[in-house]
Amino acid sequence: MDLIKSIRDSIRAIPDYPKPGITFRDISPLLQSKDAFKSTIEAFAQRYQELGIDQIAAVEARGFIFGAALAQRLGCGLTLLRKPGKLPGPVVKETYALEYGEDALEIQECAFKEPQRVLLMDDLLATGGTVAAAAKLLSRTQAELLEAAFVITLDDLPGEQKLQDLGISCYTLCR
Ligand code: 5GP
Repeated sequence: MDLIKSIRDSIRAIPDYPKPGITFRDISPLLQSKDAFKSTIEAFAQRYQELGIDQIAAVEARGFIFGAALAQRLGCGLTLLRKPGKLPGPVVKETYALEYGEDALEIQECAFKEPQRVLLMDDLLATGGTVAAAAKLLSRTQAELLEAAFVITLDDLPGEQKLQDLGISCYTLCR
């Protein structure tokens, strides 16, 4: 599919970043290309526009970019899943393991006052730790998680399998 190829071609692979042996997928050129950025949002819109999404729950920080643009396109709301200490008021927190150490995501306790059909969004799926924690966080709210959506899935890592084992449906534009 040409649309997907143009999106994939706009993502740059940076060897040995942020440390030796890691190849970082840089989405900056995608965002800088008005055509590639628009195609990305349109590709997601084609999948989600008929599904009655109430809220996009977006993961800090790059998930915010795609989540916000898609929420505008779909005419739905945006809920922020943030790193610790960034959201005011009572929050629900979920900690998850990183290769070295741990990180956490938080959502405001008041985020969903009633049952909501929610799409979870991040830019990239690698080991699945981040989105597994995000889904766990949502499960402690009134969110009904429909799917997790990514621009990129790294196929050589077990993220997609991990999420599927947790019963989370995944959708990705590029592999
Ligand atoms: P995971 O928790 O699935 O191992 O890692 C995914 C998270 O790390 C996402 O929030 C994503 O933004 C970030 N991430 C990890 N590797 C990359 C990468 O190569 N490129 C980008 N853009 N984000 C990455």
